[in-house]
Amino acid sequence: MEHGKARIDTKLVHAGEPEPRIAGAVAMPVFQSTLYELREKPGAPLGYHDIPYIRLNNTPNHAALHAKLAVLENAEAALVTASGMAAISTSLLTVLATGDHLLVQDSLYGGTHDFVTQDLPAFGITYDFIDADDPASWEGLLRERTRAIYVEAMTNPLLHVADLAAVPRFARAHNLVSLIDNTFASPVNFRPPEHGFDLSLHSATKYLNGHSDIVAGAVIGRGDLVEAVRHKLNHLGGSLDPHACFLLHRGLKTLGLRVRQQNASALRIARFLESAPGIERVNYPGLESHLRHVRARELFEGFGGVLSFTLAGGSEAAARFIERTTLPVRTVSLGGVETLITRPALTSHAGMAAADRQRLGIVDGLIRLAVGIEDGDDLLEDIARALQG
Ligand SMILES: *Cc1c(COP(=O)(O)O)cnc(C)c1O
Repeated sequence: MEHGKARIDTKLVHAGEPEPRIAGAVAMPVFQSTLYELREKPGAPLGYHDIPYIRLNNTPNHAALHAKLAVLENAEAALVTASGMAAISTSLLTVLATGDHLLVQDSLYGGTHDFVTQDLPAFGITYDFIDADDPASWEGLLRERTRAIYVEAMTNPLLHVADLAAVPRFARAHNLVSLIDNTFASPVNFRPPEHGFDLSLHSATKYLNGHSDIVAGAVIGRGDLVEAVRHKLNHLGGSLDPHACFLLHRGLKTLGLRVRQQNASALRIARFLESAPGIERVNYPGLESHLRHVRARELFEGFGGVLSFTLAGGSEAAARFIERTTLPVRTVSLGGVETLITRPALTSHAGMAAADRQRLGIVDGLIRLAVGIEDGDDLLEDIARALQG
């Protein structure tokens, strides 16, 4: 069977696996070697990027992952990186040069926000924030040297879903590169290249690996662009170590099982919270009450494992609630097998001015839940108990 035509769970297991299997190994072995003998045409000159060397992202572990990830999103090519931020920063530095201008969604992942606002200006690259929900407002922000438009599949922690379908259309009309951070959706729920995005970026630290035990990233999309990002990554050096490649490869095989369980539990928890007394508001794209639920249903196959909510009692009630839960681990991040709980105002968004947080709706009492793969009944019971106390 050609794996490119299979359904995603089959692709996760079989796509990109070496053929024939290496020494018959059923699982992809780790190639813990920085160097490879120059066997083909010894004595013939090799281009720098073709020298078989770990930093140049061309070991057998890299190659297998690249093939698997590209097939997952039905894209031409893929590249793994040493972190999600390496994927994001290297991609932006590939498509932008001094004098260029970027249109970027106004509520970004913190690391991306800081890279765009603090580091890109040092390279002479300018940017404008866009209301990604309002495509009519984008054209007025275009400049002669606007080169790219950058959005996120869902925003953190309020789970807004922008007008994602409009982004590749706008990019094509104005000759821009379209980029999307697809971490929150994962390829199970959303495959941006199918919607015309040029580059889909991931923190593979989250759902793709799924076990909270490595940091990694991925760039998936158009072949020429992925190749250009690979060359930049070869220079900047944010390459993924083979052992981390091995773990990511192993984690990926269960992505479908994990994400569907997380989708299902998150939806049940969101529905339960929405109807529970003492809850002020629940943010989850799978709820009919979500502002962009219809759009989310059109775009996504599932709504992901992250939801956020506020209790009527404000931050004191939030602190009490978190205190009373027993299953969720109190920390940041998402996409692992264990459920995590955090208050963004005190963690991921603590560095933001209180007034800015308030304006965005990230109030002190907001609780973010990143649902894991525990039994959904156990999670619901734990949450219900914590609410009652
Ligand atoms: C975690 C995360 C990143 C950064 O990824 P790292 O692997 O920590 O470098 C980028 N975007 C989103 C949406 C994230 O959640």
